[in-house]
Amino acid sequence: MSSADRLADVLADISAAETEFGRSPGSVQLIAVSKTFEADDIRPVLDAGQRVFGENRVQEAMGKWPGLREDCEGIELHLIGPLQSNKAKEAVATFDVIHTIDRAKIAKALKAEMDRQERQLPCFVQVNTGEEPQKAGVSPAETDAFVKSCIEETGLNIVGLMCIPPVEEAPGEHFALLQKIAARNGLDQLSMGMSSDYHTAVGFGATCVRVGSSIFGHRDYT
Ligand SMILES: *Cc1c(COP(=O)(O)O)cnc(C)c1O
Repeated sequence: MSSADRLADVLADISAAETEFGRSPGSVQLIAVSKTFEADDIRPVLDAGQRVFGENRVQEAMGKWPGLREDCEGIELHLIGPLQSNKAKEAVATFDVIHTIDRAKIAKALKAEMDRQERQLPCFVQVNTGEEPQKAGVSPAETDAFVKSCIEETGLNIVGLMCIPPVEEAPGEHFALLQKIAARNGLDQLSMGMSSDYHTAVGFGATCVRVGSSIFGHRDYT
């Protein structure tokens, strides 16, 4: 099966899930996660019409996306991986949406770069719903205060929340928690759901799902 066929399957699944859970048609955006794949692997997915992509490393994205953007209009690139403040300049220049705001230092560094580059990007706050020590994200208890300070003090355009549930737990309760925290903070967008659980995420109100291996195939990190 080609990546274009797998893309079509994922889009059909999302559409079926929207119907199943009473979500409006087209209310869930697919972010095709192309990390570790080369420009030549991405082109067939672009040719099939997909325009929204996710990458988790600034450096890697800088290597492949400027060329792809030259060949193809309307690309929207989302940063879904952790960010260091010394990469803020490149991140703002390379990406259109940032999903991984989780520290005041990053929030401030990004805002300063957005002002400098006159590119005010929509941002998500990443929430560590499972409170896993090794995982990025703000703890659920600190999220309200952090969101407020990002908006009111730092001046970022926070549009929603993002989470990556613990691998060994049922994702539903994590998605429900993210949905609850977003609602009480007046945030509309929820970035949640990956290849293994995007169907469930649509049921809990995901507005974008981040799907990699179900489209591009198994990732080889070597
Ligand atoms: C890699 C990655 C994904 C995609 O994962 P798959 O299981 O391949 O769909 C989604 N979100 C984040 C943050 C990722 O790093």
